[in-house]
Amino acid sequence: MSDCSFCKSKIAPGTGKMLVKNNGKVLWFCSRKCEKNMLILKRNPAKHKWSAKLKQVLKK
Ligand SMILES: [Zn+2]
Repeated sequence: MSDCSFCKSKIAPGTGKMLVKNNGKVLWFCSRKCEKNMLILKRNPAKHKWSAKLKQVLKK
């Protein structure tokens, strides 16, 4: 399994959701929370405390 496209956390086998966009991009979501934030609310993962992406941004 891959990492979550939004929060970058590991997705355990048998859980999560894979979404293939019509441009060929593959997105993985660990939860409905991540899916909603990315697709419906169109939020930037770097702006959310609970997302590991923020930690990556701050480290740089
Ligand atoms: Zn996630």
